[in-house]
Amino acid sequence: MVGVRIGVLSLQGSVIEHMDKLRALENVEPVEVKTLAALARVDGLILPGGESTTISKLLGQFGLLAPLSARIAAGMPVWGTCAGMILLAKTLVGEPAHLSVMDITVRRNAYGSQRDSFITYAVIPDFASEPLELVFIRAPWIEKVGENVRVLCRIDVHIVAARQDNMLATAFHPELAGGHAVHRYFADMVRQSV
Ligand code: GLN
Repeated sequence: MVGVRIGVLSLQGSVIEHMDKLRALENVEPVEVKTLAALARVDGLILPGGESTTISKLLGQFGLLAPLSARIAAGMPVWGTCAGMILLAKTLVGEPAHLSVMDITVRRNAYGSQRDSFITYAVIPDFASEPLELVFIRAPWIEKVGENVRVLCRIDVHIVAARQDNMLATAFHPELAGGHAVHRYFADMVRQSV
């Protein structure tokens, strides 16, 4: 199996949890990414959950916003979890977009205060044949997808996982749940791209 270097954007959010999941995979070298030099060396990148406005501000301050968009547009595999998914979206309901690379319309804090945070289970055939634990924390959902976006999972009527070519988005946090199925799926995306 090909060895790949997978970065975790390490400005804010659930960085350590993603790094731990990646460490458990074979032939994957996890790398914390905070600088342009580190970004240049990875084969794929995870944008963790956290606070999207804070991560976006830091991306700007670290001079990473435009280079990261360019790298994704050039085909680098990227996976956004929760706040990371918000960063990827081309359209955010009621506010300006950030990296603006993925053809999805996302609503932040979509579950509102009533179901602020919750855990549910679903089978997502692309990831695994058994049900996965899905952890939602002040989560967004996807309201609309473009033609070239494949919906991977809906909970009730709302889209919570999608893929467009080299881009993967999940509204939930596999780094906080049991198992490694989604990290393994992303590592395969990265392997197929090198
Ligand atoms: N509510 C956060 C935001 O809008 C996302 C929450 C998360 O990443 N768990 O950025």
